[in-house]
Amino acid sequence: MTSLRIAVVGSGPSGSYCAQLLAEESESPVEVDVFERLPAPFGLVRYGVAPDHPKIKTITTSFSEVFEETPGLRFLGNVQVGSDITLDELRRHYDGVVFATGAPLDRRLGVPGEDLAGAHAVREFVSWYGGHPDAPPNAFLLDGRRAVVIGVGNVALDAARMLVRTTEELRATDVPEHIVDAFAASTYREVVIVGRRGPAYAKFTNKEFIELLDLENCDVVVDPADLELDAEQQAHIDSSPPAARLFASFVKAAERGALGREKTVRFVFDRSPVEFLGEDGSVSGVRLAKTSNPSVTETLDTDLVFRSVGYLGKALDGLPFDAETATVPHRDSRVLDGEEVVPGVYIAGWIKRGPTGVVGTNRRCALETVTAILEDTASKTSSATTASAVDELLRSRGIQVVDWAAWRTIDEAERAAGESTGRERVKLHDRAEMLQLAAAK
Ligand code: NAP
Repeated sequence: MTSLRIAVVGSGPSGSYCAQLLAEESESPVEVDVFERLPAPFGLVRYGVAPDHPKIKTITTSFSEVFEETPGLRFLGNVQVGSDITLDELRRHYDGVVFATGAPLDRRLGVPGEDLAGAHAVREFVSWYGGHPDAPPNAFLLDGRRAVVIGVGNVALDAARMLVRTTEELRATDVPEHIVDAFAASTYREVVIVGRRGPAYAKFTNKEFIELLDLENCDVVVDPADLELDAEQQAHIDSSPPAARLFASFVKAAERGALGREKTVRFVFDRSPVEFLGEDGSVSGVRLAKTSNPSVTETLDTDLVFRSVGYLGKALDGLPFDAETATVPHRDSRVLDGEEVVPGVYIAGWIKRGPTGVVGTNRRCALETVTAILEDTASKTSSATTASAVDELLRSRGIQVVDWAAWRTIDEAERAAGESTGRERVKLHDRAEMLQLAAAK
């Protein structure tokens, strides 16, 4: 019996779940090739989940088992779909193609001064401390006093927490050594997190806020005046248990007040950024206006601002794109061009539903995608080529494919680097070094 052959583009949580579920759910033999532009798998789990949240990263252990133990499942790292191999080629070589490419762009604020030096999309910071190969190793010199984070989602809390963690805490993570050194030299003492609406609408979870409250070296300051709720916020809290729990924690934080600790994370609500101020091309302050009364403004002096206001999907070569939602239009995970389904092309994860949810949310999302693929291919004879035809195509283009064995060589080098300092791993940051190790497998 010929195998069904599926290409999955992206090895982050949704791509990895798709691969796993295709193998688990298919009643007939299936071959799955997972394409990844980086030399390492797992996308946002490896490069986006905060380094001090190692529990969330343990999902990579079960994904690794799937890659290792599933016959017909391959990892093809360091391959850029679109340039190294095109969508048309994937459609010729496979019975189905799933794009699980995430949301690699950043929402903008659209205010003057947003592009001054020192004003960053939070992704740049997350990628840097996560050791992402595209992030310059020296991207951040943490030599200021106050940092400002715009947005009150979980990513904003991640960035703030990393700025106030102690060096000992960071040394226990997989953060590359040169980046731990940069944090150790940091002179930032205050992080201000700015919410444009009231505290009832903060998007981060209570669990993450409590984690912040529990940091021993850091005060968490919430202004009691910000906790006076208008009728709309009160109604929201009354109808949303998670918002009510989080609000109760804000109240506790306001009651506790500042305890004179070394560092401070301060929250301000009902404030919208209206302008980034600059000196010699670098940010020197952020002007905020009260959202409920824009004539009231204030300026926060700062030389480091992160806009943490959400990620955006990116249009994919040859596929329709909804610029409004920054997602690919679909019906039941099948890509749509107008009202027509694009045969054999599917989506999963953030490119399908937008940048929301936790890692586990992608399992359910991937299952919908896999169900659509298996329904569509159930009564069809495979017209795909073979794994070796794909290998030959990539070889003819001089692409150094990092397969699973090659990734394991990188993985083992990272674990060995961790062993000497009592950590699980220390990440490699440099793509060339990773590719060199991969070539030596
Ligand atoms: P998010 O949860 O959507 O938060 C975005 C924040 O930006 C919101 O507070 C939003 O306020 C604000 N915002 C948007 N446009 C703005 C503007 N023009 N001016 C000021 N503020 C603006 O996004 P995220 O933090 O990037 O997280 C993405 C997803 O990953 C979420 O589902 C998150 O829970 C998940 N995640 C989870 C964890 C974890 O479980 N530990 C860690 C990281 C990320 P409004 O509400 O007013 O729009």
